[in-house]
Amino acid sequence: MKEKLQEIREKALSQITAAENLDTLNDIRVNILGKKGELTAILKSMKDVSPEDRPKVGQLVNDTRTVIEGKLTEAKKNFEKAALEKRLSFEKIDVTLPAKKNKLGHAHPNTSVLEEVEKIFVGMGYEVVEGPEIEKDYYNFEALNIPANHPAKDEQDTFYITPEILLRTQTSSVQAHEMEKGNLPIRMIAPGRVYRSDEVDATHSPSFHQIEGMVIDKNVTFADLKGTLETFAKELFGEDTKVKFRPHHFPFTEPSAEVDVSCFKCHGKGCRFCKGEGWIEILGCGMIHPNVLRMSGIDPEEYVGFAFGVGLERITLLKYEIDDMRLLYENDDRFLSQF
Ligand SMILES: [Zn+2]
Repeated sequence: MKEKLQEIREKALSQITAAENLDTLNDIRVNILGKKGELTAILKSMKDVSPEDRPKVGQLVNDTRTVIEGKLTEAKKNFEKAALEKRLSFEKIDVTLPAKKNKLGHAHPNTSVLEEVEKIFVGMGYEVVEGPEIEKDYYNFEALNIPANHPAKDEQDTFYITPEILLRTQTSSVQAHEMEKGNLPIRMIAPGRVYRSDEVDATHSPSFHQIEGMVIDKNVTFADLKGTLETFAKELFGEDTKVKFRPHHFPFTEPSAEVDVSCFKCHGKGCRFCKGEGWIEILGCGMIHPNVLRMSGIDPEEYVGFAFGVGLERITLLKYEIDDMRLLYENDDRFLSQF
Protein backbone atom coordinates (compact mmCIF):
# COMPACT_ATOMS: atom_id res chain seq x y z
CA MET A 1 0.00 0.00 0.00
CA LYS A 2 2.79 2.34 0.94
CA GLU A 3 4.68 1.60 -2.28
CA LYS A 4 1.53 2.13 -4.28
CA LEU A 5 0.99 5.55 -2.72
CA GLN A 6 4.64 6.46 -3.34
CA GLU A 7 4.23 5.44 -6.96
CA ILE A 8 1.08 7.54 -7.41
CA ARG A 9 2.73 10.51 -5.79
CA GLU A 10 5.85 10.37 -8.00
CA LYS A 11 3.85 9.84 -11.16
CA ALA A 12 1.54 12.77 -10.32
CA LEU A 13 4.41 15.14 -9.52
CA SER A 14 6.31 14.32 -12.71
CA GLN A 15 3.11 14.71 -14.78
CA ILE A 16 2.41 18.06 -13.18
CA THR A 17 5.96 19.24 -13.89
CA ALA A 18 5.62 18.18 -17.52
CA ALA A 19 2.14 19.72 -17.95
CA GLU A 20 2.01 22.40 -20.66
CA ASN A 21 -1.27 24.07 -19.89
CA LEU A 22 -4.24 24.36 -17.53
CA ASP A 23 -6.23 21.68 -19.39
CA THR A 24 -3.51 19.09 -18.82
CA LEU A 25 -3.39 20.01 -15.13
CA ASN A 26 -7.13 19.50 -14.89
CA ASP A 27 -6.86 16.07 -16.52
CA ILE A 28 -4.21 15.07 -13.97
CA ARG A 29 -6.44 16.24 -11.12
CA VAL A 30 -9.36 14.17 -12.41
CA ASN A 31 -7.23 11.08 -13.01
CA ILE A 32 -5.79 11.07 -9.50
CA LEU A 33 -8.12 12.94 -7.18
CA GLY A 34 -11.41 12.63 -9.10
CA LYS A 35 -14.31 10.30 -8.22
CA LYS A 36 -12.74 7.51 -10.22
CA GLY A 37 -9.18 8.69 -9.59
CA GLU A 38 -6.34 6.47 -8.46
CA LEU A 39 -6.04 8.00 -4.99
CA THR A 40 -9.80 7.87 -4.50
CA ALA A 41 -9.66 4.17 -5.34
CA ILE A 42 -7.10 3.63 -2.57
CA LEU A 43 -9.32 5.48 -0.09
CA LYS A 44 -12.15 3.18 -1.08
CA SER A 45 -9.95 0.13 -0.43
CA MET A 46 -9.21 1.30 3.15
CA LYS A 47 -11.88 -1.09 4.40
CA ASP A 48 -9.50 -3.97 3.58
CA VAL A 49 -6.80 -2.53 5.82
CA SER A 50 -6.57 -3.90 9.33
CA PRO A 51 -8.06 -1.58 11.99
CA GLU A 52 -4.71 -0.99 13.75
CA ASP A 53 -3.02 0.03 10.47
CA ARG A 54 -5.87 2.23 9.32
CA PRO A 55 -4.78 5.50 11.04
CA LYS A 56 -1.27 5.19 9.65
CA VAL A 57 -2.43 4.41 6.12
CA GLY A 58 -5.13 7.10 6.30
CA GLN A 59 -2.47 9.62 7.32
CA LEU A 60 -0.30 8.49 4.42
CA VAL A 61 -3.16 8.87 1.89
CA ASN A 62 -3.97 12.33 3.23
CA ASP A 63 -0.33 13.40 3.05
CA THR A 64 -0.10 12.21 -0.55
CA ARG A 65 -3.31 14.04 -1.41
CA THR A 66 -2.06 17.26 0.22
CA VAL A 67 1.25 17.13 -1.63
CA ILE A 68 -0.40 16.52 -5.00
CA GLU A 69 -3.03 19.20 -4.44
CA GLY A 70 -0.35 21.69 -3.36
CA LYS A 71 1.69 20.98 -6.45
CA LEU A 72 -1.37 21.28 -8.70
CA THR A 73 -2.33 24.67 -7.18
CA GLU A 74 1.22 25.94 -7.54
CA ALA A 75 1.40 24.85 -11.18
CA LYS A 76 -1.96 26.44 -11.90
CA LYS A 77 -0.81 29.74 -10.39
CA ASN A 78 2.36 29.67 -12.51
CA PHE A 79 0.34 29.18 -15.67
CA GLU A 80 -1.99 32.06 -14.78
CA LYS A 81 0.90 34.33 -13.93
CA ALA A 82 2.63 33.56 -17.23
CA ALA A 83 -0.58 34.26 -19.13
CA LEU A 84 -1.00 37.59 -17.38
CA GLU A 85 2.59 38.60 -18.08
CA LYS A 86 2.19 37.70 -21.72
CA ARG A 87 -0.94 39.86 -21.96
CA LEU A 88 0.69 42.79 -20.17
CA SER A 89 3.70 42.72 -22.45
CA PHE A 90 1.32 42.91 -25.43
CA GLU A 91 -0.48 45.87 -23.96
CA LYS A 92 2.63 47.64 -22.78
CA ILE A 93 2.81 51.36 -23.59
CA ASP A 94 6.17 52.91 -24.26
CA VAL A 95 5.79 56.33 -22.62
CA THR A 96 9.11 57.49 -24.07
CA LEU A 97 7.78 57.34 -27.67
CA PRO A 98 7.04 60.81 -29.14
CA ALA A 99 3.29 61.58 -29.35
CA LYS A 100 1.56 61.42 -32.73
CA LYS A 101 1.22 64.94 -34.08
CA ASN A 102 -2.29 66.12 -34.97
CA LYS A 103 -2.44 68.05 -38.21
CA LEU A 104 -3.77 71.55 -37.56
CA GLY A 105 -5.89 73.22 -40.20
CA HIS A 106 -5.61 76.89 -41.09
CA ALA A 107 -7.48 79.54 -43.01
CA HIS A 108 -7.66 79.37 -46.82
CA PRO A 109 -5.61 82.20 -48.41
CA ASN A 110 -8.87 83.78 -49.67
CA THR A 111 -10.25 83.76 -46.12
CA SER A 112 -7.06 85.26 -44.67
CA VAL A 113 -7.13 88.13 -47.18
CA LEU A 114 -10.85 88.71 -46.67
CA GLU A 115 -10.32 88.90 -42.91
CA GLU A 116 -7.53 91.42 -43.45
CA VAL A 117 -9.68 93.57 -45.77
CA GLU A 118 -12.60 93.45 -43.34
CA LYS A 119 -10.32 94.47 -40.47
CA ILE A 120 -9.06 97.50 -42.42
CA PHE A 121 -12.57 98.75 -43.24
CA VAL A 122 -14.06 97.95 -39.85
CA GLY A 123 -11.17 100.03 -38.47
CA MET A 124 -12.46 102.93 -40.59
CA GLY A 125 -15.97 102.55 -39.17
CA TYR A 126 -17.51 100.33 -41.85
CA GLU A 127 -20.13 97.70 -41.18
CA VAL A 128 -19.84 94.24 -42.83
CA VAL A 129 -23.16 93.21 -44.44
CA GLU A 130 -24.29 90.28 -46.57
CA GLY A 131 -26.87 89.80 -49.29
CA PRO A 132 -28.45 86.88 -51.16
CA GLU A 133 -26.51 85.00 -53.85
CA ILE A 134 -29.78 84.14 -55.61
CA GLU A 135 -31.02 87.54 -56.63
CA LYS A 136 -33.74 89.34 -58.52
CA ASP A 137 -32.74 90.82 -61.86
CA TYR A 138 -33.86 94.17 -60.40
CA TYR A 139 -31.23 94.27 -57.63
CA ASN A 140 -28.43 92.90 -59.79
CA PHE A 141 -29.02 95.22 -62.75
CA GLU A 142 -31.95 97.62 -62.84
CA ALA A 143 -31.49 99.21 -59.40
CA LEU A 144 -27.86 99.79 -60.37
CA ASN A 145 -28.78 101.86 -63.42
CA ILE A 146 -28.38 98.93 -65.82
CA PRO A 147 -31.71 98.80 -67.74
CA ALA A 148 -32.84 95.75 -69.70
CA ASN A 149 -31.29 96.86 -72.99
CA HIS A 150 -28.02 98.07 -71.45
CA PRO A 151 -24.90 96.58 -73.06
CA ALA A 152 -23.42 95.84 -69.62
CA LYS A 153 -25.99 93.10 -69.28
CA ASP A 154 -24.57 91.34 -72.31
CA GLU A 155 -21.02 91.78 -71.14
CA GLN A 156 -21.74 89.96 -67.93
CA ASP A 157 -22.63 86.40 -68.77
CA THR A 158 -25.36 85.78 -66.30
CA PHE A 159 -26.69 82.48 -64.92
CA TYR A 160 -30.46 82.99 -65.10
CA ILE A 161 -32.73 80.71 -63.06
CA THR A 162 -35.93 82.28 -64.42
CA PRO A 163 -36.16 85.46 -66.57
CA GLU A 164 -36.43 87.42 -63.29
CA ILE A 165 -34.24 85.38 -60.92
CA LEU A 166 -30.50 84.92 -61.34
CA LEU A 167 -27.24 84.11 -59.55
CA ARG A 168 -25.82 87.52 -58.74
CA THR A 169 -22.99 88.61 -61.04
CA GLN A 170 -21.71 91.26 -58.61
CA THR A 171 -21.91 92.07 -54.92
CA SER A 172 -23.12 95.55 -55.98
CA SER A 173 -26.59 94.01 -55.64
CA VAL A 174 -26.21 94.36 -51.86
CA GLN A 175 -25.98 98.15 -52.30
CA ALA A 176 -29.57 98.46 -53.46
CA HIS A 177 -30.82 96.31 -50.54
CA GLU A 178 -28.97 98.47 -48.03
CA MET A 179 -30.14 101.74 -49.61
CA GLU A 180 -33.77 100.53 -49.56
CA LYS A 181 -33.55 100.00 -45.81
CA GLY A 182 -33.10 103.77 -45.58
CA ASN A 183 -30.84 103.75 -42.50
CA LEU A 184 -28.70 106.72 -43.48
CA PRO A 185 -25.84 107.42 -43.36
CA ILE A 186 -24.45 104.11 -44.72
CA ARG A 187 -20.87 102.95 -44.45
CA MET A 188 -20.64 99.30 -45.43
CA ILE A 189 -18.67 96.59 -47.15
CA ALA A 190 -20.36 93.50 -48.58
CA PRO A 191 -18.09 90.55 -49.29
CA GLY A 192 -19.50 87.49 -51.04
CA ARG A 193 -19.56 84.95 -53.83
CA VAL A 194 -20.64 85.98 -57.34
CA TYR A 195 -21.31 83.93 -60.49
CA ARG A 196 -20.62 84.41 -64.18
CA SER A 197 -20.69 81.86 -66.96
CA ASP A 198 -16.97 82.20 -67.66
CA GLU A 199 -14.74 79.41 -68.88
CA VAL A 200 -12.24 78.28 -66.25
CA ASP A 201 -8.68 79.45 -66.86
CA ALA A 202 -5.78 80.99 -64.92
CA THR A 203 -7.67 84.25 -64.33
CA HIS A 204 -11.35 83.27 -64.70
CA SER A 205 -13.80 81.11 -62.79
CA PRO A 206 -17.61 80.79 -62.97
CA SER A 207 -17.68 81.49 -59.24
CA PHE A 208 -15.46 83.97 -57.41
CA HIS A 209 -15.61 86.60 -54.67
CA GLN A 210 -16.04 90.34 -54.61
CA ILE A 211 -15.97 92.88 -51.84
CA GLU A 212 -18.34 95.75 -52.43
CA GLY A 213 -17.96 98.99 -50.52
CA MET A 214 -20.40 101.89 -50.21
CA VAL A 215 -20.65 105.14 -48.29
CA ILE A 216 -23.70 107.41 -48.40
CA ASP A 217 -23.81 110.59 -46.37
CA LYS A 218 -24.17 114.34 -46.75
CA ASN A 219 -21.14 116.16 -48.19
CA VAL A 220 -19.23 113.06 -49.32
CA THR A 221 -16.70 113.93 -52.03
CA PHE A 222 -14.43 112.19 -54.51
CA ALA A 223 -11.54 113.26 -52.24
CA ASP A 224 -13.06 111.10 -49.46
CA LEU A 225 -13.15 108.15 -51.87
CA LYS A 226 -9.52 108.71 -52.85
CA GLY A 227 -8.42 109.02 -49.22
CA THR A 228 -10.32 105.89 -48.22
CA LEU A 229 -8.89 103.72 -50.99
CA GLU A 230 -5.38 105.09 -50.49
CA THR A 231 -5.55 104.14 -46.80
CA PHE A 232 -6.88 100.71 -47.78
CA ALA A 233 -4.07 100.12 -50.31
CA LYS A 234 -1.33 101.26 -47.91
CA GLU A 235 -2.62 99.04 -45.11
CA LEU A 236 -2.97 96.04 -47.40
CA PHE A 237 0.20 96.33 -49.51
CA GLY A 238 2.53 98.48 -47.39
CA GLU A 239 3.03 102.09 -46.30
CA ASP A 240 5.02 103.13 -49.40
CA THR A 241 2.28 102.03 -51.82
CA LYS A 242 1.18 104.70 -54.29
CA VAL A 243 -2.35 104.86 -55.73
CA LYS A 244 -3.39 106.01 -59.20
CA PHE A 245 -6.95 106.76 -60.33
CA ARG A 246 -7.69 106.31 -64.05
CA PRO A 247 -11.02 107.60 -65.48
CA HIS A 248 -13.33 104.75 -66.43
CA HIS A 249 -17.02 104.06 -67.02
CA PHE A 250 -19.45 102.07 -64.86
CA PRO A 251 -23.24 102.46 -65.21
CA PHE A 252 -23.82 102.86 -61.46
CA THR A 253 -21.15 105.50 -60.72
CA GLU A 254 -20.39 108.94 -62.19
CA PRO A 255 -17.60 109.87 -62.34
CA SER A 256 -15.97 106.44 -62.29
CA ALA A 257 -12.37 105.33 -62.01
CA GLU A 258 -10.18 102.28 -61.99
CA VAL A 259 -7.53 102.18 -59.29
CA ASP A 260 -3.95 101.01 -59.73
CA VAL A 261 -1.43 100.53 -56.94
CA SER A 262 2.33 100.83 -57.39
CA CYS A 263 3.84 97.35 -57.75
CA PHE A 264 4.83 96.20 -54.28
CA LYS A 265 7.45 93.86 -55.76
CA CYS A 266 9.49 96.39 -57.74
CA HIS A 267 8.09 99.58 -56.16
CA GLY A 268 7.17 101.04 -59.53
CA LYS A 269 10.35 100.23 -61.47
CA GLY A 270 8.68 97.53 -63.54
CA CYS A 271 9.08 93.77 -63.15
CA ARG A 272 7.69 90.44 -64.34
CA PHE A 273 5.03 90.68 -61.65
CA CYS A 274 3.51 93.96 -62.91
CA LYS A 275 4.36 93.06 -66.54
CA GLY A 276 6.88 95.91 -66.62
CA GLU A 277 4.20 98.52 -65.93
CA GLY A 278 5.17 99.39 -62.36
CA TRP A 279 1.41 99.51 -61.58
CA ILE A 280 -1.20 96.86 -60.83
CA GLU A 281 -4.94 97.37 -61.23
CA ILE A 282 -6.86 96.36 -58.12
CA LEU A 283 -10.39 97.79 -58.15
CA GLY A 284 -13.11 99.92 -59.72
CA CYS A 285 -14.89 102.81 -58.00
CA GLY A 286 -16.79 106.04 -58.39
CA MET A 287 -19.40 108.45 -57.03
CA ILE A 288 -22.81 106.78 -56.90
CA HIS A 289 -24.95 107.78 -59.90
CA PRO A 290 -27.91 110.02 -58.88
CA ASN A 291 -30.23 107.58 -60.69
CA VAL A 292 -29.10 104.75 -58.40
CA LEU A 293 -29.79 106.83 -55.28
CA ARG A 294 -33.18 107.94 -56.62
CA MET A 295 -34.26 104.40 -57.51
CA SER A 296 -33.72 103.28 -53.92
CA GLY A 297 -35.64 106.25 -52.53
CA ILE A 298 -32.71 108.48 -51.56
CA ASP A 299 -32.75 112.15 -52.56
CA PRO A 300 -29.56 112.86 -54.58
CA GLU A 301 -29.92 116.56 -53.79
CA GLU A 302 -29.45 115.80 -50.10
CA TYR A 303 -27.21 112.72 -50.09
CA VAL A 304 -24.15 111.72 -52.06
CA GLY A 305 -22.09 108.58 -51.91
CA PHE A 306 -19.25 106.58 -53.32
CA ALA A 307 -18.87 102.89 -54.07
CA PHE A 308 -16.05 100.52 -54.93
CA GLY A 309 -15.68 96.86 -55.84
CA VAL A 310 -12.65 94.69 -55.25
CA GLY A 311 -12.07 91.20 -56.64
CA LEU A 312 -10.99 89.13 -53.63
CA GLU A 313 -9.13 86.51 -55.70
CA ARG A 314 -7.22 89.23 -57.51
CA ILE A 315 -5.92 90.58 -54.20
CA THR A 316 -5.14 87.06 -52.91
CA LEU A 317 -3.19 86.16 -56.07
CA LEU A 318 -1.22 89.41 -55.81
CA LYS A 319 -0.49 89.19 -52.11
CA TYR A 320 0.67 85.58 -52.19
CA GLU A 321 2.22 85.79 -55.67
CA ILE A 322 0.10 82.96 -57.04
CA ASP A 323 -0.12 82.95 -60.82
CA ASP A 324 -3.11 80.63 -61.36
CA MET A 325 -6.53 81.29 -59.86
CA ARG A 326 -7.52 77.61 -60.22
CA LEU A 327 -5.11 76.71 -57.41
CA LEU A 328 -7.40 78.55 -55.00
CA TYR A 329 -10.30 76.18 -55.71
CA GLU A 330 -8.64 72.80 -56.17
CA ASN A 331 -8.18 72.12 -52.45
CA ASP A 332 -4.80 70.52 -53.06
CA ASP A 333 -3.25 70.12 -49.63
CA ARG A 334 0.27 70.46 -51.05
CA PHE A 335 -0.66 73.93 -52.26
CA LEU A 336 -2.83 75.08 -49.35
CA SER A 337 -0.42 73.96 -46.64
CA GLN A 338 2.07 76.63 -47.80
CA PHE A 339 0.01 79.48 -46.40
ZN1 LIG B 1 6.61 95.28 -60.48
